[in-house]
Amino acid sequence: MSKLPTIHSRKTLEKIQSYQPGMPIWELKKMYGLSHVIKLASNENPLGPSPKIIRAILGSLPELHRYPDANTTTLKEHLADHLKLSPEHLLVTNGGDELIKLLSETYLEPEDEIVVPSPTFREYEFGAHVMGAAIKTVPLEADYAFNVSAILAAITDRTKLVYLCSPNNPTGTYLTRQDLAVLLDQLPDGVLLVLDAAYSHYATAEDYTTGMEFVRQGYPILVLQTFSKIYALAGIRVGFGVAHPFVIQKILKVKEPFNVNSLAQTAAITALGDVEHYDKSLAENTKGRKQLYDAFDEMNISYTVSMSNFVLAKLGPNAGAIYQELLARGIILRYGDTWGLPEHIRISVGTLEENQILIENLRELLLTIGK
Ligand SMILES: *Cc1c(COP(=O)(O)O)cnc(C)c1O
Repeated sequence: MSKLPTIHSRKTLEKIQSYQPGMPIWELKKMYGLSHVIKLASNENPLGPSPKIIRAILGSLPELHRYPDANTTTLKEHLADHLKLSPEHLLVTNGGDELIKLLSETYLEPEDEIVVPSPTFREYEFGAHVMGAAIKTVPLEADYAFNVSAILAAITDRTKLVYLCSPNNPTGTYLTRQDLAVLLDQLPDGVLLVLDAAYSHYATAEDYTTGMEFVRQGYPILVLQTFSKIYALAGIRVGFGVAHPFVIQKILKVKEPFNVNSLAQTAAITALGDVEHYDKSLAENTKGRKQLYDAFDEMNISYTVSMSNFVLAKLGPNAGAIYQELLARGIILRYGDTWGLPEHIRISVGTLEENQILIENLRELLLTIGK
């Protein structure tokens, strides 16, 4: 007879709720027996990967028996060139998510705290929970703007990391250059500001900053970037961090040697040189976002103007029911419940055709189910 052993896992794991990703296409197909599904749930690039990248990946397949370059040397050189920084300022990771975990492992003791605005990306909390550290949340303002004085006021002797996502997921709002400068100037010693700029490429506001200028000036800031969004490489997993070499050296201590696979390195290098796909992706997103805004205006749906590739819309008390019905019809969005916004949905901007199908279904459901 087999007996389940009582092995106690670490106490802090009890606090972790496993990450709820946007439902995968295959799962919804299976659930409702659908043959066609539109996924507007994970802020992926709807255009798909560029043909140049597919060719480059195919070209690198014969070397798959070799370990990847543990230092991602070539990719870092390209990135350094691109960003006008040195390779020593860079750390390449298995997606931006890995970087958040590495940061947590590098800096957080159980008695430490992180400060995070709310609502925002949930991975920051995950990283803190893994290390048993505490989380202090600071609500965004009513229009989802960042409240700089409240963020500064939340910092204590125990604070190690302050996470700011700009443009913010799921709101699409951003932190101005002026506000970031104030934050960095008043940040107490011993605190690292992590600026998650996963969506920076979509941000067009005059006073938006990727934070890179502050890295160059030597401030205690780490900028997170990813190839998952505008570069259309979410499936291959590659992202990076940019910070003072002193910070990068510390994080390197907890990094697995071969964290970024060879195909990901090839893909990212190629993506940096592929201006055509980048420009096309940006232009399509601007058009698609406008298409959603226009439809929402017409349907009297309130939404937050977004500097990103998704839009947060307020449907009302029936948002959950509408979200569920859209699922049954083969359209996957993200329900705001995840962020404590049960009347909201977050819609990733799709192709013009996908957006149109969503709009038509939404219009119909607002008539039948109602707000
Ligand atoms: C998508 C995303 C990331 C990074 O995602 P990876 O796919 O792990 O690179 C980081 N931060 C935010 C806010 C994101 O939405």
